[in-house]
Amino acid sequence: MRVELLCTGDELVTGLITDTNSPWFEAQLFQLGVKVDRTLLVGDVRPDITQALLEVASRADVVLVSGGLGPTLDDFTLECAAAAAGVPLVEDPQVLQWLKERYAQRNVPLNPGAFRMARVPQGAEVVRNPLGSAPMVILRLGRARLFFVPGVPREYRALAEGEVLPRIRALLGSDPERVYRAFRLLRTVGIPESQLDATVAPLVPQHPRVVFGFRTHAPENHLKLMATAPTQAEADAALAAAEAASRQLLGTAVFSADDEEYASVLAKLLTRAGATLATAESCTGGLIAQQLTAVSGASTFFIGGAVSYAEKMKVAWAGVPSEVLARHTAVSRETASAMAEGVRAVCGTTYGLSVTGYAGPTGGTSEDPVGTVYCALAAEGAPTRSERFSLMGDRDRVRLFAATSALEMLRQRLLAGPSVP
Ligand code: ATP
Ligand code: MG
Repeated sequence: MRVELLCTGDELVTGLITDTNSPWFEAQLFQLGVKVDRTLLVGDVRPDITQALLEVASRADVVLVSGGLGPTLDDFTLECAAAAAGVPLVEDPQVLQWLKERYAQRNVPLNPGAFRMARVPQGAEVVRNPLGSAPMVILRLGRARLFFVPGVPREYRALAEGEVLPRIRALLGSDPERVYRAFRLLRTVGIPESQLDATVAPLVPQHPRVVFGFRTHAPENHLKLMATAPTQAEADAALAAAEAASRQLLGTAVFSADDEEYASVLAKLLTRAGATLATAESCTGGLIAQQLTAVSGASTFFIGGAVSYAEKMKVAWAGVPSEVLARHTAVSRETASAMAEGVRAVCGTTYGLSVTGYAGPTGGTSEDPVGTVYCALAAEGAPTRSERFSLMGDRDRVRLFAATSALEMLRQRLLAGPSVP
């Protein structure tokens, strides 16, 4: 089944309003295994709307048209629909009755604008709008079914969900070419997009029913798997096989699937281990603490964090010995280790995590240029681990990746289990 969306309104093509209706409806359809083939935005220009209606109707089986159904003079979508279908606009007694009821309920007299909403293309079917005045209108144009709904997001969603989707479902039921889809997003960190692609590339020919897609969402890289098959069971099985093979190749770089956020994965790992955490951050300025406390229930594992930016606060809050700073500087493996150990001791936690580095654009040394970041993880009864990272990009990117690099040290440690020091 070919589905297209057509949104009308000057506000959509002048940067005033972003089309949020279409992505929402696309996601609803995708759950039915239907991919929208095209989404079109057209301004409030009669010949453009008429032309667009003819165009989409020539290609699609189902079109959802939105906007321009209201009582104002810039609402003329149905006029264009009538022109495209070559039929007149006629007053629909049923719609008129609904309007009278609605206006009476609100104690407002019917005005000429309201009457305009009762005029629909001859031969169209009308459906009552549960939240507004303008009805939904269904019109056949060639082989296409056009569903007209208001642009107001509340009304759009109510009608799309309550009236359009059930009709699409029914049409799908009788579609001999119907395909079924299954979808999984594997979320990774610590592996560049090109390496992600290269790692799973050998799987592509082995899973012909699955499309492998990639998306960067810094600091994460996502592998999108979409299976298509003649039955849902076959689509699910094809997806499961591709997912298992991908996970095997990617190992612990995959931290979650679909909607699960990084911080909540870490929260689960810490909670399961019965572990607590304290942080000492320099160049990340609290980014780590911010991410962790974004998870509800963070108080069970996150005890506290210091933004120990100046040297004297590294000493005062993170317990870094002044000699370490004097001998190795604030951006060094030794300082990172001392920060992690110090904050762990102050807070009495299982783990202490630290970051110190040069976020840029100024600063750095010849040995440790901008982008150099040291992270350390101190653990109860185990030697402290430290790592040096060379991060690329501007200040925001270095800070973001620095936070993730530190958190990754912790996640990998938790995944390795209690036996690993
Ligand atoms: P109304 O009866 O309110 O005139 P309508 O069907 O004529 O309804 P529009 O006038 O096109 O719809 O839009 C109504 C409101 O909905 C406007 O505020 C507009 O910004 C918003 N809107 C329209 N289309 C979209 C869209 N695709 N995404 C998000 N908001 C939208
Ligand atoms: Mg309007």
